[in-house]
Amino acid sequence: APQNYDVVVIGSGGAGLAAAIQACDEGARVAIIEKMPTIGGNTIKASVGMNAAETRFQKLKGIEDSKELFFEETLKGGKFKNNPVLLRELVELAPEAIEWLAAKDIVLNDITITGGMSIDRTHRPADRSAVGGFLISGLVKNINKRNIEVLLETSVSEILFEKGVVTGVKVVDEYNDSRILNAKSVIVATGGFSANREMVVKYRPELDGFVTTNHKGATGSGIAMLQQIGADTVDMGEIQIHPTVEQTTSYLVSEAIRGGGAILVSQAGKRFFNEMETRDKVSAEIIALPEKSAWVIFDEQVRMNNKAADEYIAKGFVVSAPSPHALAVKLNMDHHALLATLERYNLFAEQQNDEDFGRKTALRHPLNQGPFYAIRIAPGVHHTMGGVTINRDTAVLNTQKEVIEGAWAAGEVVGGIHGANRIGGNAIADIIIFGILAGRNAAALARR
Ligand code: ADP
Repeated sequence: APQNYDVVVIGSGGAGLAAAIQACDEGARVAIIEKMPTIGGNTIKASVGMNAAETRFQKLKGIEDSKELFFEETLKGGKFKNNPVLLRELVELAPEAIEWLAAKDIVLNDITITGGMSIDRTHRPADRSAVGGFLISGLVKNINKRNIEVLLETSVSEILFEKGVVTGVKVVDEYNDSRILNAKSVIVATGGFSANREMVVKYRPELDGFVTTNHKGATGSGIAMLQQIGADTVDMGEIQIHPTVEQTTSYLVSEAIRGGGAILVSQAGKRFFNEMETRDKVSAEIIALPEKSAWVIFDEQVRMNNKAADEYIAKGFVVSAPSPHALAVKLNMDHHALLATLERYNLFAEQQNDEDFGRKTALRHPLNQGPFYAIRIAPGVHHTMGGVTINRDTAVLNTQKEVIEGAWAAGEVVGGIHGANRIGGNAIADIIIFGILAGRNAAALARR
């Protein structure tokens, strides 16, 4: 016999977990369906943090910020292609979402910056560790506390739809048995499609052969399932390549390293661009280099301020040396060129003015404390900005822009919020803010 739920959540990334917690707290009977053997989706790999403006934690640190500026900088970063209604919602609800997390013992009170932003508004854990693991472990504790059912290694194969209304899902478990779960609301939180090469290449043929930073569950299945019940999509060709991906491991080298003061240097030993520009622009400059790759270079002070750096060292792909000269030798780089580059950058850091490339943020300090570190990087497929269309309540819309009753979507599966280029730190904001909203609204519909 089919099981009955108020709300079924597809996907256990940040959006799905936030939605499930909120729906449960609104009194709904909830189940989370996850096709992979582990919880956390691609969210668990998130590095830098969660953007929000006018938060309590910014005020505590004396950081003056405004929602308006956050909105404008995101719009500019997205090449003015962002859906302004959804973006406004994100910006307005961001401080509440930071508090929602804090109330659940997920405190993001250290603050850094990412490319394309002018103010420190990327909230991360106090120990400056990567946000993804911290967030997921905190959310899972909350899921367990509420006894919310999580079905792992179980994949939704179809969203059931009768007479224009969603009625549940069909699931297939690890033994290939399929069954039906009835639900008044289905929240699709299945993430993006960066790991679905065929789908990426369909929309962007030139990305054939690029590595991806994503986990292998990022296949875009939620988009296809929602299209089958009439959902519209937007911006499907807007696929973000992240500039700094270690190519042998497909490991993302977080923007937090550059945000902490690192620079990008070509094989010729020279800086070539403003490292704190948006991801699309930095990626394009790296691809234009003769080697189509570059080095992230930093010193001991940067390492000490970014836990992620130690993770990269443990992974074994960081080259280190006691002096810039010795580092250049190891990198097969002209050491005169590297020394001149560091000297010039250090001068810019001291005068807080980058005369060569106009870097305005994260000129944290001169890079002059050994040991020195380098990671070889090149761009990789990182985020799919396109996806299904929703309204500001996270209700999925059909091609006539009408609500599909009972279908909700949140997180990377949704298109439009980030326009043509997502700013670092805005994905976590997106998934948490719209996850909460989806959980609330899905539960309210189920009560009706
Ligand atoms: P977001 O960042 O939007 O929360 P994530 O990528 O972190 O998205 O999480 C999405 C999750 O959804 C992943 O764990 C993925 O394995 C899961 N998923 C994707 N498609 C399905 C499906 N058809 N059935 C069940 N789980 C799915």
